[in-house]
Amino acid sequence: AFDVLVVGAGPAGAAAAIYAARKGIRTGIVADRFGGQVLDTMAIENFISIPHTEGPKVAAALEQHVREYEVDIMNLQKAESLALRGDLVEIGLAGGARLRSKTVILATGARWRQMNVPGEDTYRNKGVAYCPHCDGPLFKGKRVAVIGGGNSGVEAAIDLAGVVSHVTLIEFDKALRADDVLQRKLRSLKNVDIITSARTTEVTGDGQKVNGLVYEDRRSSDKHTLALEGVFVQIGLLPNTEWLKDAVALSPRGEIIVDVHGQTSVPGVFAAGDCTTVPYKQIVIAVGEGAKASLSAFDHLIRSTPA
Ligand code: FAD
Repeated sequence: AFDVLVVGAGPAGAAAAIYAARKGIRTGIVADRFGGQVLDTMAIENFISIPHTEGPKVAAALEQHVREYEVDIMNLQKAESLALRGDLVEIGLAGGARLRSKTVILATGARWRQMNVPGEDTYRNKGVAYCPHCDGPLFKGKRVAVIGGGNSGVEAAIDLAGVVSHVTLIEFDKALRADDVLQRKLRSLKNVDIITSARTTEVTGDGQKVNGLVYEDRRSSDKHTLALEGVFVQIGLLPNTEWLKDAVALSPRGEIIVDVHGQTSVPGVFAAGDCTTVPYKQIVIAVGEGAKASLSAFDHLIRSTPA
């Protein structure tokens, strides 16, 4: 059995594996896709101490760093179940294999919900963005739309209004769903327009980058075009935790509930990064949380394993 088995190999999982292996304990890491969301990112400018880099480079560096240590890497493997077997935690993989470990660190990340309209995929990272903290400054002085009028969409619009020249917030429903205090703040901003009852039907571009967006007015069915350079999609972040719903306590949003040590509701099972209730989904935060969960797992081992 492993001492520490990490599920997921994004920034959080890689950090957890490195911290565990550096303790000289038996460490494994199983992942669907080594690198995680970072693989889908282009410019990264907020990974502190590295002013500018690119997602695929960070993903390769994460893997290279893990490979410096004795870590059993099981890539392209999907975990499907978690169960307690005596003192051990058992992770079942999609192929039928079972892995046992004294402690497990869940770091399965999350995915942004997509609009699934023409142009969204074509122009991802070429004007279509999901993270205002990450990509807002890339649109300095430009025009953007934010799709989604819940808390995250309205927060994004307020944030972006301070950086870009103009923000159009587009909400599918008749009214925004964000907290009143956020809506008041949004409405006080001069460079923001709000459009409700609008269904985004297409992101347009010139072949290289985004140049506009088409939406349908749901009351009249008329189509309208907005000229802009960026589209921030803020219609939900889905944690990759569906397979854990009967195994560990999840929040109403499906995030794994963790305490300040990264401990879940199951003793010996820890979690870190975007799949947890820890606020703000960012690489630096995921890395720190992964390190923390790993130190917590080590602490758990030295308290529970006889010498
Ligand atoms: P993830 O990176 O999501 O990794 C999850 C890992 O778990 C992956 O290896 C995945 O394959 C694996 N996994 C999932 N389910 C299973 C399963 N059932 N079995 C086995 N393995 C599984 N953040 C920034 O700080 N700066 C940026 O500039 C930035 N830009 C971004 C741009 C885009 C387009 C996106 C999508 C995100 C961006 N982010 C950025 C956010 C950042 O990528 C995430 O916060 C970070 O990757 C979270 O790390 P994580 O390890 O928690 O999860």
